Amino acid sequence: MTSLPEEQAGPVANEPFGSDTAAADRPLDRRLLNGLAKIGLASRHRAWQEAEGRGLTPTQGQVLAFLGQRRDAARLSDIVEALAVTPATASLVVDALTRKGLTAKARSASDARALAITLTEAGQREADRTAGWSDFLLAAVDTLTPAEQGIFLRGLVKMIRTLQEKDEIPISRMCVTCQYFRPNAHPETSRPHHCAFVDAPFGDPDLRLDCLDHEAAPTDQAERVWEEFIRAQ
Ligand code: SF4
Repeated sequence: MTSLPEEQAGPVANEPFGSDTAAADRPLDRRLLNGLAKIGLASRHRAWQEAEGRGLTPTQGQVLAFLGQRRDAARLSDIVEALAVTPATASLVVDALTRKGLTAKARSASDARALAITLTEAGQREADRTAGWSDFLLAAVDTLTPAEQGIFLRGLVKMIRTLQEKDEIPISRMCVTCQYFRPNAHPETSRPHHCAFVDAPFGDPDLRLDCLDHEAAPTDQAERVWEEFIRAQ
């Protein structure tokens, strides 16, 4: 996957996919792409604003948010994989956060060659703030009905999984790649899927994009699960 060095990951030019003024002449997929790009632009712009206000860079904020949602210490390779940054960038960011007193580094108990990176108390507080950077989008999401949100989430899952397969975005701990996911195990009900981890049925609106209990399914199981998931609309 191509990664941008931190200093290149700044705001991008407005209208990255061109104007939508002739929307009626554009195919639907192009208009959807344009809409997603606008939301992405707003999200990046807010991240830069918030980060600057806290004396952080956006990547430092992303690392704090990533560490804040873990149950255990992270290795540098975890950060590289989750945020699609280079090892050199991850190392520089962690060094900067450690100098600010927001992260702590120690030798990993399970691998003496690896670092175990954790949040300090101040880092945890900052991570909690950072996790709210995208909350401004909630008001927009809440204008969708529950049914629209469920359809939107299912569409996002399909897009993210496709981009993951092409190595275009970091791996997400999604239901559709989890060994505990049983799609359409309860057909013709409002909660057709089953999570074998908690042994409970659930519907599309409860699909997870980043579940702490996720365990990656073996390739053959993942393929079967995916085919079953997309078979039923
Ligand atoms: S463990 Fe999490 S990711 Fe896996 S199926 Fe259950 S809810 Fe989904």
